[in-house]
Amino acid sequence: MSQWPIGVFASLDAGLGVHLDVVQELNIPSIQLHTPRPETRTQESADRFAAKCADAGITITCMFGGFEGESYADIATCVRTVGLVPPETQQARVQEFKEISDFARMLGLDAVGLHIGFVPEDVSSDSYHTLLDVTRDLLDHIGNNGQTLHLETGQESADHLLEFIKSVDRDNLFINFDPANMILYGTGEPIEALKKVGRYVRSIHCKDATWAPEDKRGEAWGQEVPLGDGDVGIKNYLQTLRDLGYDGPLTIEREIPEDRDRQKADIGQAVRLLESLRSEILAE
Ligand code: MG
Repeated sequence: MSQWPIGVFASLDAGLGVHLDVVQELNIPSIQLHTPRPETRTQESADRFAAKCADAGITITCMFGGFEGESYADIATCVRTVGLVPPETQQARVQEFKEISDFARMLGLDAVGLHIGFVPEDVSSDSYHTLLDVTRDLLDHIGNNGQTLHLETGQESADHLLEFIKSVDRDNLFINFDPANMILYGTGEPIEALKKVGRYVRSIHCKDATWAPEDKRGEAWGQEVPLGDGDVGIKNYLQTLRDLGYDGPLTIEREIPEDRDRQKADIGQAVRLLESLRSEILAE
């Protein structure tokens, strides 16, 4: 693919992404795919979906995992329910993510992505060390499938995420950078964060958001908004990605599945914005 192909977060039968007909209608050449439900993770459905994408000229660039029981209702609920951190579901989810990686391999994918959860702040705690252990175990399995793991950003500051990646100490652990999440979770100014973690960034989301009021940051969500309308500064974001040497897909996320018409319209507008900025910035 050429530099910075446009992409969008998509789903088959589960998750927040748009469906394939919308991807085709908007003429978007790449997708990140939210993992389908367990009963759909078969070779037969992988072959069918891969053929459908190939026919439509769509490249799948990464598969994102997600788990039953996760809730993004508010930040406190996220802490309790998301990713590999909650102890009561940890082992089962590690096992399930290995199966998701196996399904991604059936689709021929070399990258999988994950919200790992809120990495414990205390690096001397048992929960931090247990998370290191299960992450290494998972990365070994993913590595055997010839894949890298991209951690979604937002739930940690850039410094803490870097510290975690260094502690895990595996060569197939990278980052899917989402600038809006840094704002939504109140974990840091996104461009500054991107510069810090840039060497690990292997895929990205193009999503925008406005900050929560200053005294509420980290406790209450900011607001996700159409690309270009928020506080990320999309031009600066793309210029920074170019300066870091990032040449992968620009994968749009617009997380309003409750309003599919508006979601489609906003994504269409995001495509036009990104195409225009891409011509401008790559010509500089
Ligand atoms: Mg994202």
